[in-house]
Amino acid sequence: MLHEITDREASAKARDVDLKVGYQGEPGAYGEVAAAAHGGIPRGFASFEKLLEALRDGDVDEAVLPMENAVVGAITEALEPFAAFVTEGMELVAVDITSVPVRLSLAARPGTPLAAVKRAWSHPAALRQCTHRLAQMGIERVVCYDTAGAAQIVAHEASTDAAVCSRRAAERYGLAVLVEDVSDKEQNGTRFVHLRMADHARAQVSLAFLRTSSMTATGRLDVLTGATLLPLAGTTEYPVRMWVLGADAARLQALAPVRDVQVISLGQPAAHAAKVTPPRQGTEPVIKSLPHATARRAPTVVEVGPLRLGGGWRAVIAGPCSVESAEQVMRIAKEVASCGATALRGGIFKPRTNPYAFQGHGLEALDWLVAAGKANGLPVVTEVMAIDQVKPVAEKADVLQIGARNMQNFDLLRAVGRAGRPVLLKRGAGSTVDEWLGAAEYIMAAGEMRVILCERGIRTFETSTRNTLDVGGMLAARPLTHLPIIADPSHAAGRADLVEGLARGAWSAGADGLMVEVHDDPARALSDAEQALVPARFAELARNLALHPDARLPLAQLRAWVDAIDHDLGVLVQRRLEVAKVIGDSKRQTGRAVLDPRREAAVRRTYQEALPGSKGLADKLVDLLLEAAKAQQSIDED
Ligand code: PEP
Ligand code: MN
Repeated sequence: MLHEITDREASAKARDVDLKVGYQGEPGAYGEVAAAAHGGIPRGFASFEKLLEALRDGDVDEAVLPMENAVVGAITEALEPFAAFVTEGMELVAVDITSVPVRLSLAARPGTPLAAVKRAWSHPAALRQCTHRLAQMGIERVVCYDTAGAAQIVAHEASTDAAVCSRRAAERYGLAVLVEDVSDKEQNGTRFVHLRMADHARAQVSLAFLRTSSMTATGRLDVLTGATLLPLAGTTEYPVRMWVLGADAARLQALAPVRDVQVISLGQPAAHAAKVTPPRQGTEPVIKSLPHATARRAPTVVEVGPLRLGGGWRAVIAGPCSVESAEQVMRIAKEVASCGATALRGGIFKPRTNPYAFQGHGLEALDWLVAAGKANGLPVVTEVMAIDQVKPVAEKADVLQIGARNMQNFDLLRAVGRAGRPVLLKRGAGSTVDEWLGAAEYIMAAGEMRVILCERGIRTFETSTRNTLDVGGMLAARPLTHLPIIADPSHAAGRADLVEGLARGAWSAGADGLMVEVHDDPARALSDAEQALVPARFAELARNLALHPDARLPLAQLRAWVDAIDHDLGVLVQRRLEVAKVIGDSKRQTGRAVLDPRREAAVRRTYQEALPGSKGLADKLVDLLLEAAKAQQSIDED
């Protein structure tokens, strides 16, 4: 049902000449103004049904339907027949929106005094816009099918009845205007949507989204291009829940945070219209609800014990590619925990290109992984490759991983979505961002809202890396989804020497986290040996990322972490002394004073900036360092 208009060349101005545009009503109706708005040739129809039939049968190229009025909001009269046609399978595309200023006059046959008017005829939507004014004047409202039609009726009837219509319609039928503007609100206006049959739509034109419940909101929703009217399935009783005017959900969501698009509903079809085609027995609505993965909402924070990802929480998941033995995973778990990783990864079922390569130790290895996680306070992440693995793995693992190769294994996605565990969803090497989000949608539609998206490199023409880490795709996905997005530099690089650079790139680009493969004996690793970081290099990477400590981490892990920092500090102090010494030597050689109070002040400022809120500590450190530097100089001078 979703169509996109892709021809970017065409624009609203370059609309077809001789375009027949149908509207509901008599000549002089506001619909006629909308129909003529872009140079179309207007043609009136007695009812919206007849208008839509004409569009369906090709008698007109375009139809305009009033959708929203500044005073009364949604205009459901048009929506009901529209609902019926779309429910029957008519595929329509919205190609434009026209705002027609509405000034509703009260008009009667010439010579009729205002005081004599007891009844006013008009279209129900127009009458609703004048409820208060007409009531004040003691005028009863009489419904007919059209504002211009009302003028026609009044003109033909020998009575003191009036019509609520445009000045144009009044003049056309020879009526005199008694009240220039009887609408309850100044600045009245109606928006018409221009519809074409889906395959008639060639031009991409600007389209304003409208929200039927209030015109004020509409002011903020501006331009989108090429859109389709999409019925959202409802219940058995009311098969169509509401109408969405949309390009595609992802694009809408992309704009949403920027443009503050709140709702894109065109309103709810009336119950009887929605009932026109009851759903066939046993068929599920195609679209059950608005999308979850691309819904507009606050960032999702996926939290599993000390692992927190999303909404500003950033973390590193690390561990071996494969769980090779109880001891191996225990050792590596300890290492990564001491660097600040907050989850342990490890494969027990391995998707291998070569069927004779190590396939993983299976469920037995799950116990080793879980034990290593428990001993080091880390939740565990492991891949499931088949539906029958989901249940036993979900019983013990904390996070289920869907590998790149299975990203579009929809039955598996549904199965993990029902398992009650958060899911880490790798992006397929050949999948687009939309497909990735679609895969997340499968998991969420099955019930699991805690989905972590993981970019792990896509396949490109480049062969010097195993895959190409698509930081651009990751960034493009960011405004489309509230889910956390992490990067896996290991599988992207395929070689250990590039992992740190890619990790830092993804981190700087705002990844919510990283997943890194670590092995303490890469030469002997049973899988992905080339890309494994040894613990020391992983430690360096983790330090560079400046992960934040979390009080929920086990004390031993926090201690190991602080020990590592102390070690780094010691090394840095040593480096500083060395460089300071060389500076002193250089100054001496060029005959400059070794001590420079301005430099001292600059060093002091550097420390104060690096230690905001601890001026005393900054000063003490500077004193100590300068003292050490001076001592070193004088020792050297000896
Ligand atoms: C893995 O994480 O071990 C793995 C197999 O990754 P991917 O599915 O991204 O290749
Ligand atoms: Mn791997």
